[in-house]
Amino acid sequence: MASIKLTGVRKNFGAVEVIKGVDIRIEDGEFAVFVGPSGCGKSTLLRMIAGLEDISGGTFELDGQVMNDISPEKRGIAMVFQSYALYPHMTVAENIGFSLDLKGTPREEIKRRVGEIAERLQLSPYLDRKPQALSGGQRQRVAIGRAIIKEPSVILFDEPLSNLDAALRVQMRAELQELHRSTKATIVYVTHDQVEAMTLADRIVVLKDGEVMQADHPITLYKQPANAFVGQFIGSPR
Ligand code: ADP
Ligand code: MG
Repeated sequence: MASIKLTGVRKNFGAVEVIKGVDIRIEDGEFAVFVGPSGCGKSTLLRMIAGLEDISGGTFELDGQVMNDISPEKRGIAMVFQSYALYPHMTVAENIGFSLDLKGTPREEIKRRVGEIAERLQLSPYLDRKPQALSGGQRQRVAIGRAIIKEPSVILFDEPLSNLDAALRVQMRAELQELHRSTKATIVYVTHDQVEAMTLADRIVVLKDGEVMQADHPITLYKQPANAFVGQFIGSPR
């Protein structure tokens, strides 16, 4: 179970308000995609949900529990970044298993779970390699493996496919859909790629200047944009 509720969420950097009162509810198991122009606050919102940024105002609830002051490790939330953020000195196996190692999980169990995840993500042949010896797609699979090994109830993705070429992006979309089916995690996904958003989302949340313009099923958004900005951004035919 993992439903997310943001109520009047705000974020200031100094005197500048970049998130201006966001209200949104994401249901358990939903695949929600945030879109909007560069600088509108997508990453900041994800980072607040992950606990990597303080929330300046309002509340973030997970299954009805206020999480504002809960440390990132205790939220049961994993995040995958555009830049992969792998540990360069560790092997693929060590990167994927790192969080279990930190928790003191026995070596044999770590090895078994890393092996299972590597199998799922087609990384089995590369377990002893360092990240720099992998392709971009393989690096992002390692980052995904590192996120899911903790069995998080929520996975946050910040433009995870943006550094990959077009063909690989299409293939990885299918893999992400499979990941969503198999983990049943609630997913909040940021992209600037409209096709990616339309393909993956149960619901698209359109942001502009730190505010939600519309949150709807992709088809509804496309056919009934709430305003001219949404219509133009989504590319609706009117
Ligand atoms: P997006 O991910 O939608 O491109 P961000 O969430 O990264 O947007 O940024 C939203 C706004 O907040 C931008 O104007 C950005 O410059 C500003 N911002 C983000 N992080 C910081 C920070 N650490 N300090 C000051 N301003 C920041
Ligand atoms: Mg961003």
